[in-house]
Amino acid sequence: MSYDTQPAASHFVAGGYVEDTAGAEIEVIHPATGAVIARLHEATDRIVELAMVSALEAQEVWAAMTGAERGRVLRRAADLIRERNRALSELETMDTGKPLQETLVADAASGADALEYFGGLAGTLTGEHIQLGGNWAYTRREPLGLCVGIGAWNYPTQIACWKAAPALACGNAMIFKPSETTPLCALKVAEILVEAGAPAGLFNVVQGRAEVGSALVTDPRVAKVSLTGSVPTGRRVYAAAAAGIKSVTMELGGKSPLIVFEDADVEDAVGGAILGNFYSSGQICSNGTRVFVQKGLRDRFLRRLAERLEGVVMGDPMDEAVNFGPLVSAAQRDKVVGYIRTGLGEGARLVCGGEAVPGGGYFVQPTVFADVTDGMVIARDEIFGPVMAVLDFEHEDEVVRRANATEFGLSAGVFTRDLARAHRVIGNLHAGTCFINSYNDAPVEMPFGGMKMSGVGRENARAAIDHYSQLKSVFVRMGAVEAPY
Ligand code: NDP
Repeated sequence: MSYDTQPAASHFVAGGYVEDTAGAEIEVIHPATGAVIARLHEATDRIVELAMVSALEAQEVWAAMTGAERGRVLRRAADLIRERNRALSELETMDTGKPLQETLVADAASGADALEYFGGLAGTLTGEHIQLGGNWAYTRREPLGLCVGIGAWNYPTQIACWKAAPALACGNAMIFKPSETTPLCALKVAEILVEAGAPAGLFNVVQGRAEVGSALVTDPRVAKVSLTGSVPTGRRVYAAAAAGIKSVTMELGGKSPLIVFEDADVEDAVGGAILGNFYSSGQICSNGTRVFVQKGLRDRFLRRLAERLEGVVMGDPMDEAVNFGPLVSAAQRDKVVGYIRTGLGEGARLVCGGEAVPGGGYFVQPTVFADVTDGMVIARDEIFGPVMAVLDFEHEDEVVRRANATEFGLSAGVFTRDLARAHRVIGNLHAGTCFINSYNDAPVEMPFGGMKMSGVGRENARAAIDHYSQLKSVFVRMGAVEAPY
């Protein structure tokens, strides 16, 4: 099977596709060619209201089911996603421009993992019993109600599933707004959940830009907001949610350090730096874009990096031999090229890459800068593209201090053969998601999220359950009530 890039309608609400052409048009562009592959409309107030009402109705039905019943639906959805992995991956590639070679293993597959994992947990969610002498108390783990998910454009299927799976496992309903840049894939997740047996309205997808997102976040019927996006957007959405005292999960940006000590296996370290900078053309929030290399290894590291980057195959991302795709949009390409010019102007040494590729697509060569210093803009700002900054260091204390000197705290990685040092350094780094002799592994069993400005809350693993449920405490007196009068 394969999916048309033009969906049946813009929104998936109340169990089916819904259109309202009164909404402003959204052109969906294939980043490898610049061709328009679909035309959608932003959600109007009518669509948002329909989503709200149907989600609230579905949530009541869903929360009344047992956890095991809910889990069965989620696991069935995981199976359907796996069966349709190729079609979903092709759609993801058309939507984002990421190579099919990547999407076949990283996107729908990760979404299915989340649905399977939280489907398995759904039947295990309980409160606790607290004995208090003759009296006792218990807690009930209850859903929050209606949750809003808002996604970035880099991993549209995965983000939709990482938010939906724990939310639904806990008995909530969700309205999801994809990024207007990549609106297609979440619609398929919604379709599949209904096919798997989810009540109509339980998971709705509404399209739109910031205004639609803002309407969802500020609606008093919404209990929780989970955003994946940039820090500036996070600040706005968090503030809007705070006005209604809503729970939030914020998965925001980063400028993460990847520290390579002289004793590291150089091939592994280079491999980690490649994965942590150039996978998905560098459009990954947790990327290790500040690569600190201890001085004695620096030249060898850069030489091997440049040699291995000759293995980049750039081109039509639908060709499975291609391993490096375009950026998601012309705007993102221009932003990244602007940062490359800034790096050159700041005196960083260009080791390879540095150019946008002429043509209709939004390709930028994988780019490595050496001799980068901490104060340079390219060492401070999240670029969100294929630009690696290599910085030198001499001592462990020094590199830890410099690695932590950032407002972000999403991820960090260490390459060394000295495991005591690896754990000590990781213990001293201010980052929520860390890697030793590895980079960017994100299994669903492991909590994912950031410290400092990189976020609030955690996705994945059991930790996510706390962010999509609430406890009700119940005190039970077994004897007479002794009142003073
Ligand atoms: P943005 O912050 O621009 O947008 C994120 C989402 O929020 C989009 O759907 C956007 O809509 C929506 N939005 C924007 N303004 C508002 C508002 N006022 N109220 C409600 N919703 C709003 O991020 P990008 O899409 O550009 O993605 C890149 C960023 O995402 C990077 O900073 C990256 O680090 C971060 N990211 C973080 C991840 C993590 O897990 N920590 C993972 C992936 C990315 P629209 O796009 O339609 O305007």
